[in-house]
Amino acid sequence: MPVIKDVLLQLLFSLMPFVAYNIYYRKLTVNYSRNFIIIICSLCLLLSMTFASSVQSGIIYDVRYVIMFFGMLFGGFATGAILLVEFLIYRLYIGGSGMADAILILILTFPLSVLLSFLYHQSKHKFWIIFITGISFSFIPLIVLYITKTDYVMDNFLFNILAIPVTNSLGIWLLVTLFNKSVSDKELYLRYIQNEKAEAVNHVAASLAHEVRNPLTTVLGFLQLIKSGTLPQEKIDRFLDISMDEIHRTEQILSEYLSISKPHLPFQQRIELTAQIKSVVELMTSYANMSNVTLSADYPSSPLYISGSPAELKQLLINFIKNAIEACKDVDNGMVNITVYEETDQVTVEIKDNGVGMTPEQLSRLGSIYYSTKMSGTGLGLTFSYQAIQAMNGSVSVRSSPRSGAVFLITLPHADLNP
Ligand code: ADP
Ligand code: MG
Repeated sequence: MPVIKDVLLQLLFSLMPFVAYNIYYRKLTVNYSRNFIIIICSLCLLLSMTFASSVQSGIIYDVRYVIMFFGMLFGGFATGAILLVEFLIYRLYIGGSGMADAILILILTFPLSVLLSFLYHQSKHKFWIIFITGISFSFIPLIVLYITKTDYVMDNFLFNILAIPVTNSLGIWLLVTLFNKSVSDKELYLRYIQNEKAEAVNHVAASLAHEVRNPLTTVLGFLQLIKSGTLPQEKIDRFLDISMDEIHRTEQILSEYLSISKPHLPFQQRIELTAQIKSVVELMTSYANMSNVTLSADYPSSPLYISGSPAELKQLLINFIKNAIEACKDVDNGMVNITVYEETDQVTVEIKDNGVGMTPEQLSRLGSIYYSTKMSGTGLGLTFSYQAIQAMNGSVSVRSSPRSGAVFLITLPHADLNP
């Protein structure tokens, strides 16, 4: 009976990342980060080793392999390495006769975890990878212990042959399946809100008439005044300037509207991303200089291919960079930096500024049509950009708080993965 209690306790520890994710990310409009995985896995590892089960003093069982594998799967190799170091330090501190075996087992299971998590990301048969992982993490320790401590394994045969495989296999399967389900639900939810914002574009036609009528009425009024012939030249000049500004603004609204309401052509072409970004950065440098903002960019040296419409890609990059520059206008040492990262199946463009930042309320309204906090803003830039990114099967996330700048992350799939 105490064995069942131990197994259940260890299963509880192995499910902690899933529970914590659902509590912490429930209301956030972003998905999990690597830091979250590192922190929660470190905590789980510590707890599961502190309250480990043991049938003979010095030899302990816990869900270390489950947690390390999970950490590597969702947090990458670096997370796995951090957990490995944490495990080694803590295991050395606990000591006991099983210590040397534990380290030997880890020498075998750690590279296997790296290999299996790589295969998991590549393979279509994810269930089988998880199955093999659970089996390997159950039997490698048993085989090693059988070789080094045969008597111990035979004396506690039932515990070794039942409790350990059940904890490891069930732990891995439950954790990875449940966590994956929550993460994909979240992705769906995030897509849904962006979709809803994009749909609002269809409702714009009516409000557009209103947007255009105001400047037209102003211009008409001025023209009538000028035509009456009683105004001094200086006033005429001023009215003409205002009229021209109004017409310019109307034209801007119309062209932005046209670009967001245009249906996205299903045809997508292969684009080299770095070259596009370079040309946009060149284009925007004079705008940045004029606003006293430093604009810089870092790219990987190899070419990166994505698929989409080059004109739309350019337009959306301009929108993000323009916003970032505008956010820095009134801060000292305004800086906008663009960084391009290449990952296995996607490319991420980070646009980071140290400008005014946004409150959580502002963040939640980003991308909504006509939402703007600027005197002369149209509030259409991000609506278009979000829609265009979605058309390329990409996604956007943003981090910001007031007075501490903003970071926009645009993630786009590699060209070959985007049918
Ligand atoms: P516009 O630029 O015409 O206001 P956008 O759709 O481009 O419209 O942006 C909407 C709003 O989002 C902006 O008015 C601003 O409040 C906010 N915003 C966008 N990017 C940033 C940024 N980098 N920093 C702070 N606020 C931003
Ligand atoms: Mg804008």
